[in-house]
Amino acid sequence: MVRPIMIDGSQGEGGGQILRSSLALSIVTGEPLTIENIRAGRKKPGLLRQHLTAVKAAARISNAHVEGDAISSMELSFHPQAVQSGTYHFAVGTAGSAILVLQTILPALMLADGPSELTLEGGTHNPWAPPFEFLTRAFAPTIERMGPRLHLELVKPGFYPAGGGRFTVRIEPVAELKGLTLLTRGQETRRSAEALLAHLPEKIGERELDVLKRRLSLPADAATCRVLSNSVGPGNALVLTLEFERAVEVVSTIGRKGVSAEKVASETADVAEAFLASEAPVGVHLADQLLLPMAIAGGGAFRTLALSEHARTNIDVIKRFLDRPIRVQEEGATVVLRFD
Ligand code: ATP
Repeated sequence: MVRPIMIDGSQGEGGGQILRSSLALSIVTGEPLTIENIRAGRKKPGLLRQHLTAVKAAARISNAHVEGDAISSMELSFHPQAVQSGTYHFAVGTAGSAILVLQTILPALMLADGPSELTLEGGTHNPWAPPFEFLTRAFAPTIERMGPRLHLELVKPGFYPAGGGRFTVRIEPVAELKGLTLLTRGQETRRSAEALLAHLPEKIGERELDVLKRRLSLPADAATCRVLSNSVGPGNALVLTLEFERAVEVVSTIGRKGVSAEKVASETADVAEAFLASEAPVGVHLADQLLLPMAIAGGGAFRTLALSEHARTNIDVIKRFLDRPIRVQEEGATVVLRFD
């Protein structure tokens, strides 16, 4: 029997990304995996619902033999077989991010033997996860430049704590991912902001947008409130879209109880200002999420802001599965990652 790749889930940041990246790479490469100390660096360590759903989704599409797939489990043994494209439905069962479940299985399905149709349920607008608009405007168009096609549709938004969100994804795979070269972003072509509101007063969104208009010189017609009447529970997300000739960045903040609308907006503006002041085409989160597909492609390069601890941990995990270089070069205030 092939010896599994052993991953220590407490390394670096010690969060759920180590698990998601390990599972994603295990099913892409067919390498069995044992992961210990899962999310040991987190307050509530082990598998939460979002992580367990990711394990089950990865197991389902690869018909894997799994041990340790239970809530709070800190050790997992995972033996995948060939990945099967198809029609799948995965539900987190809480407001945990359904988008992070997709992040786990997407690389394998982008390289599968046929198209897939996924329905995912859970959170679609969570703190510490990509919101749905990030997926459609920043992530998916960048991935499509690598070959696959992704058709995403938000059926119902899901905010913490009520959850109940749902979205669908149709994935048209490719035999091989093309490496992408994304070193410059070109001129800015459009800047717009949306305050998403579910069962909350529109005034909250207007206050958020007022801050962005002032700090980022947003014209009034580029700042809109969007009411999401079909959400199960209340929620608010502030989504800023920065479009350039060759790149799109989406900066978002999820409104939280006890945090003023002005604070939500100023957090968004701080991140946006740092991005705008740099010359990077790829923001911190997109950089994180491009690492794995770019390493699988084994070619290309992109420029981003300083690398987060999260991204460094992710690179360490990727290197355990793929025998390919990932070179990190600091260039002024930016960092260039090269994959060939
Ligand atoms: P946990 O241990 O709780 O599961 P984690 O360490 O796995 O957490 P995070 O570091 O919080 O998770 O990040 C999860 C993912 O969500 C990363 O891919 C990150 O790039 C992405 N992400 C977080 N916030 C945003 C955001 N505002 N926009 C886009 N992507 C985001």
